[in-house]
Amino acid sequence: TSRQRVATRAVDTLCPYCGVGCAVTYVADVDHNRIVHAIGRDGAANAGRLCVKGRYGHDYASHPQRLTRPLIRLQNAYPKGQLSPMEQRPGKPGGPVEHDAVLPHFREASWDEALQVVADRLLGIRESHGSDALAGFGSAKGSNEEAYLFQKLVRAVLGTNNVDHCTRLCHASSVAALLESMGSAAVTNVVRDVARADVAILTGCNPTENHPVAATFIKDAAAAGTRLIVINSRRPQIADYAALYLPIRPGTDVALYNAMLHVIIRDDLLDHAFIRERTEGFEAVAEAVREVTPAAAERICGVPAADIEQAARMLGEANAAMFFWGMGISQHTRGTDNARCLISLAMVTGNVGRPGTGLHPLRGQNNVQGASDAGLIPMVYPDYQRVDDPAVQERFERDWGVPLSPRPGLTVTEIISAARDGDVRGMYILGENPFISDPDVNKVREGLANLDFLVVQDIFLTETAEFADVILPASSFMEKAGSYTNTDRRVQLGAPVLQPPGEARQDWELICEIAQRMGYPMAYDSVADVFDEFAACTESYASLSHAALGLRGRWYPCSNPETSDGEPIVFGDAFPRGPAMLVATRFTPADEQPDGDFPLVLSTGRVLEHWHTGTMTRRSAALDTLAPDASVELNPTDARKLGISDGQQVRVTSRRGTITLMAELSEAVLPGTVFIPMHFREACANLLTNPAVDPWGKIPGFKFCAVRVEAAREA
Ligand code: SF4
Repeated sequence: TSRQRVATRAVDTLCPYCGVGCAVTYVADVDHNRIVHAIGRDGAANAGRLCVKGRYGHDYASHPQRLTRPLIRLQNAYPKGQLSPMEQRPGKPGGPVEHDAVLPHFREASWDEALQVVADRLLGIRESHGSDALAGFGSAKGSNEEAYLFQKLVRAVLGTNNVDHCTRLCHASSVAALLESMGSAAVTNVVRDVARADVAILTGCNPTENHPVAATFIKDAAAAGTRLIVINSRRPQIADYAALYLPIRPGTDVALYNAMLHVIIRDDLLDHAFIRERTEGFEAVAEAVREVTPAAAERICGVPAADIEQAARMLGEANAAMFFWGMGISQHTRGTDNARCLISLAMVTGNVGRPGTGLHPLRGQNNVQGASDAGLIPMVYPDYQRVDDPAVQERFERDWGVPLSPRPGLTVTEIISAARDGDVRGMYILGENPFISDPDVNKVREGLANLDFLVVQDIFLTETAEFADVILPASSFMEKAGSYTNTDRRVQLGAPVLQPPGEARQDWELICEIAQRMGYPMAYDSVADVFDEFAACTESYASLSHAALGLRGRWYPCSNPETSDGEPIVFGDAFPRGPAMLVATRFTPADEQPDGDFPLVLSTGRVLEHWHTGTMTRRSAALDTLAPDASVELNPTDARKLGISDGQQVRVTSRRGTITLMAELSEAVLPGTVFIPMHFREACANLLTNPAVDPWGKIPGFKFCAVRVEAAREA
């Protein structure tokens, strides 16, 4: 037999998943328009390394369920807000059942018809109810250029600042604390600088699962002598490499960190010069922690006082210490306080602005840093310039040629509440899936169902798209060019590997066309032109261009991309706001406490093989095979008391709903706590979660709600 020759094409681009931003070469079968394999490139963040998602998670782009034509909801479709076909016939994404059940409720339309319906309906709501009756969710999966154009459309064309994205669900509290303290929310040191740290504190994060390639560099550093202090209420695998592991009761971080501050002040492990020259507010912090002894903190957080003392001494005596944190810090109703404590610990020990030091909130999505930088946030234009600053408003009004609203807009959860109340009546959702990702999805259902008009632009018929009036088929990451900013502030270029399927179109072109049909001129020759306009209205990106980024990208800030790779470490001499503000915090219990009916604490999160609402990874054959089902992790002590065995089906109930899934007994979770991944629609963790939010970052407390677990009745 003769082998048929396959025409292939290799394209240097990026992994589409997490904020590490690994550089990858995808090799595509040109004739069949699909990727056949991935090779790690020598990128600044990955040095050729890839995790299982980057290596095997690319086939979602060629999945047969890709949307290929615009869809318009039929008059006699299932009523919004009642059980939708997907819920009546639950199955996992990628299976035929739910997709085939939903599609008959829509009809195919031409692009001209679909886009005109979108423009007319949004204009109609703006005319009859005002601009603030409209809102948009952009996406941290999109490029910087798409994020910039989307927030520009919402602000300049819809006329409102009601624009947000999933940063509200992951690091909004970290951003609030960092902006308040330093005047910048970007990381101070890149991940790989951990190699120069004496001590690295990893708290509320699970890099092995959520930032896998970053985790490999942290483990390398540990092997070479960096001492890791790992703090978590669910023991992450990287604790195997720790010099000290502190298992902390969920929601008690402030008590632990204030006790560490207490020891550092008591034993004079302070960097007095740094405190004097670079900070303000130290006295208030010292006063707030005066009574928070390790013994007092132990009673709240469960960490032995001796271990708190040891952690504080390790930090205070280190020459260089680095802080990494994840959503175990940020996704709490006091998430901003948690981040404030970490900032104080770094500042009072002088651990910012030098090699091997710094503050690094590990960003989740591949472009959550860039989407935030580009202004997909209701209070700020690009580069965190406040919408209620008259000078900033005047500048953007001049640049964009229209009057702009001075009122900060609503956040993700506020928009959903406003939709429930009838105050927001029309929405444009680009690449987000709030029906799975937002807390208390029954409330999300009410909000989405109550909208007069919803347009969803996506690559699959997501659970959120079931509520749409118009669905626009978009391009996947693999089909478009654009820039993406990783967790290290590195701006890198993605390149098209495949052709979009059917009539699917580029997201940036669709945003421009909707703007134009609504009467606002928005036209660019290329994404590079969009980038130039975005960069010109920022300081951070001002020196960059697509040409300057090249194949390897640059860190921002970058004084001259011709001669410099950008700055891996920032704030060596000064912070953008002047002296860093230290903010005193006091322990406040989580919003919802366990009781007799709901005795356990639920924390939600991610697993290595899947990504957020599963839209992409659950349609990837290898990843779905590795992790096909949801399970709830339960400590064996609790399982014994409840009479539950490993692998048994159980019901998990909170004050908001019940889901059924498999029990997985695990010593990783503390007694009294359970963990459920967020990716699985058929066991949707967010049916259970509490929508209460942090008062500053407005982030929901996904890491803490009260539940009970019981054996599922036999069918
Ligand atoms: Fe992709 Fe993140 Fe894995 Fe790198 S670590 S391959 S960016 S998912």
